[in-house]
Amino acid sequence: MAMATIVLSPQNITRAIMSSSRKTNKRIVHVIGLNSFGGLKANNGVISLGLPLSTEKCFSNIVSSLKTTSSSYKGKGGGALSSTCNAAGEIFTIASIINGLVLVGVAIGFVLLRIEGFVEEQEFASCGRYPYHKSCYRPKCDVCKNIVPSNPLGSLTNPFWKQESCPSHAHDGTPRCTCCFRFQPRGTKGYIDLHDANRKLCPECMDSAIMVTNKCQPLYAEIHQFYEGLHMPVNKRVPLLLVENEQLYAMVSNKSLDIKGVCVRYMESTINIVTKQHTTPEKRTRPFKLTLDNGIVSGILILFGLPRILTGFMIAHEMMHAWMNLSGYEPMSEEVEEGISQVMGHMWLECELSSSSSRNGRWSNYERKLGEFCKYQVEVSPCPIYGNGFRKAHQAVQKFGLKKTLQHMRRTGNFPF
Ligand SMILES: [Zn+2]
Ligand SMILES: [Zn+2]
Ligand SMILES: [Zn+2]
Repeated sequence: MAMATIVLSPQNITRAIMSSSRKTNKRIVHVIGLNSFGGLKANNGVISLGLPLSTEKCFSNIVSSLKTTSSSYKGKGGGALSSTCNAAGEIFTIASIINGLVLVGVAIGFVLLRIEGFVEEQEFASCGRYPYHKSCYRPKCDVCKNIVPSNPLGSLTNPFWKQESCPSHAHDGTPRCTCCFRFQPRGTKGYIDLHDANRKLCPECMDSAIMVTNKCQPLYAEIHQFYEGLHMPVNKRVPLLLVENEQLYAMVSNKSLDIKGVCVRYMESTINIVTKQHTTPEKRTRPFKLTLDNGIVSGILILFGLPRILTGFMIAHEMMHAWMNLSGYEPMSEEVEEGISQVMGHMWLECELSSSSSRNGRWSNYERKLGEFCKYQVEVSPCPIYGNGFRKAHQAVQKFGLKKTLQHMRRTGNFPF
C-alpha cells in the first residue's frame, strides 16, 4: 500500500488522501488532492455557487472517473490516471532521495574539511630539538641564531644557498659577501674587507679570489682557447687588466648598473690597475697606459678580488663584446649585445662545470657550487637588459645554433625568432 512508505513526497501525500477517499466521498477528496498543487481555488459547491466550475475542478472530475474505472482492476492499480500518477510520483521520490543524498554529501564534505584542518593544526615542524605547530613555526636565523621575529616581510631568504635571516641584518651592519651574497653568521670570523667600495668576501669566495692582474693571465689564455674552439678567435693583443671599483665605473656611462667588468673601446688613456696583493688601495695599484693597438678595443677590465669562476665568467662575457667589435658588427641595442654576451659567459660556465669537461676536476666543490649560483643568477635576472637579453639570446641559440644566431644578428642587429 501507498501508506506503507515513509517518504513524504507530494505524490505520496496525494496518494494517501486518494486512498482514504475511496471510503468516503471520492469527488470532493480528489479535488482536495489535486488542489494541493494548484493553490487556493473554489473546491466545493458553496463557494462556487452560481459560478462555472474551475478548470481544475473539471479536471478532477475526469480524474475521479478515470480513478473509479481503474479501481475496478482488483487492486492491481493501473488505469490511465494511476499509471500517470505513479510515474510522476516516482520522479518526485527519486528527486527527494537525490536531494537528500546531496545534502548528506555536503555535510560529510564539511566534516572532512574540519578534520583536515584539525590534523594540519596538529602537524609539527621542528626547529632544532623543539617541535612547533606549523602555524606557530618561524625559521631560525642563520646569522644571529634567534627565531626570526614575526614581521610583515617574513625572513630574508636566499633561495639558492637556503640561508634564512632576519630582515634587519640587511641594514644593521652585518657583513655580507659581495659575490655569493651570504651574510656572515654571528660569532664567526674570516669575512675579508677588500677596502674597495665596501666590498667584502666570505672565506670560501676568498679562497679562490684572483687579486692581481698577472694571476689572471692563465685563465684569460684558457678563455681565448674556448673562443678559438668555437671558431671565434679574439685578437690576443687586447690586454686583460684587473682594476678597483672606482676605476671600473670611471669607464662606463651607465653607473646605475651593478657591473664587474667592461670592454673599453676607442680609448687611449692611463688607468690604475691592481698589481699587488695589498689590502690598502694606495699600495696595490700602478698606472697602465691603454693604447689602441688594434684600432678598436683598448682593453678588458675586470674587478679584482672575484673568485676564479666568477672572474672567468666575466672574461668570457667581455670577450664577446671584444669579438663582435673586432669582427665588424654594427652597434646593436644593449639588450641584444649584453644578451649574447651573457650567453657566452653562461656557455663557458656550462662547459667548465659539465662532468665531461677535462678541466672539470680543477674546480673545487665550492667553486662548482658558486658557478651554478652564477648561472642561476644569469637565468633568473629581472634586469630588462641582462636578464631579458639573456633569455632571448639563449632561446635563439637553442633553436638556431650559435653560428646562425650570430649571422642573423650581423645582418639585422637582432635575434632570430
Ligand atoms: Zn637574525
Ligand atoms: Zn661568498
Ligand atoms: Zn657586457
